[in-house]
Amino acid sequence: MKAAVVYGADDIRIEDYPDPVAGPGEVVVATKVAGICGKDVKTMLGQGLTEDLPTILGHDVSGEISALGEGVQGFSVGEPVVVYPMAVCGNCHYCLQKRYNLCEQAIGIGHGLDGAFAEYVRVPKEIIALGGLIKLDDEISFEDAVMAEPLSCTFAAARANKMKEDQTVLIIGGGSIGLMHLKTAKWTGCKVIVVDIVDMRLAMAGQMGADHLINSAAVNLHEEVMNITQGRGADVVIISVDIPDVIESCLPLVAKGGVCNVFGAASATEGTVDPSWLHQQEITLTGTSASTLADFQKCLQLIREEAIIVSDLISHRFTLDSFDKAVESAKSLEMVRGVITCGEMVSVSF
Ligand SMILES: [Zn+2]
Ligand SMILES: [Zn+2]
Repeated sequence: MKAAVVYGADDIRIEDYPDPVAGPGEVVVATKVAGICGKDVKTMLGQGLTEDLPTILGHDVSGEISALGEGVQGFSVGEPVVVYPMAVCGNCHYCLQKRYNLCEQAIGIGHGLDGAFAEYVRVPKEIIALGGLIKLDDEISFEDAVMAEPLSCTFAAARANKMKEDQTVLIIGGGSIGLMHLKTAKWTGCKVIVVDIVDMRLAMAGQMGADHLINSAAVNLHEEVMNITQGRGADVVIISVDIPDVIESCLPLVAKGGVCNVFGAASATEGTVDPSWLHQQEITLTGTSASTLADFQKCLQLIREEAIIVSDLISHRFTLDSFDKAVESAKSLEMVRGVITCGEMVSVSF
């Protein structure tokens, strides 16, 4: 099969790769759409790249079942599916609480297992046993379905932040994930402020329903937030950027009793938190990463019902043959969400 194979940092080659085989309890999916996630881009450039190379990245995938391994029941060849990408053990302390994203032995598609930037992807038996191979119907496109995974990560954050109606949510960073936090917060009924330094992204956030937009390169962020919130600060601050110093500078933007959520996977850094501020203002700090299967299923359902629209997030489409262009675009701030499409796509305009 054709695949985008990673040999090292910034060394990706489009080449022939052995076709995956469905072992007992496994399924092979012919990729239709694979989403390009921020994590994929960082990994392609070398951050957190496995030593076990070569490898194929891409964990957001929808497609059609092309082969069934021995003993797989309830699925048939040709069926459209989307995949919750984490292969978890199901037995550890965290899995027993259904906190699958914290599984002690989690590996996943595009993360330890060959991923979806390829014509075919093998879905391991752990994912199938968990219920992570999910059938699609005519009500949802392959492109929309592939957005369930990133959207579900913002749902996991909203859950951890105990976000509720009428709260003010401040989102630092208007990239694709920041915009998904916006959609999740609006769906929850919150008032949303989006901060970025790129006007194009702020314009998108405005179109997607943000109540206030702040270009923090042009105005004083703290003053603006205090003006909007009558001097209180935001009930929930979500840091959805990968800039180490930003966390400390955003803490004063949190209202009393509020939550600060660290979502961007900033590399190791140090910052200062005043314990008396945490104590007296009753502040909660949360960190969230990935999502559970329940978050994923919920998001898939909301996308299918058009309760949350995700198609406006897809700004770039590529094929495996133009994968190098995808990498270039991903590095630029222009790309919101890119997808790789494989095979014949109906109703997709380039
Ligand atoms: Zn992702
Ligand atoms: Zn586990």
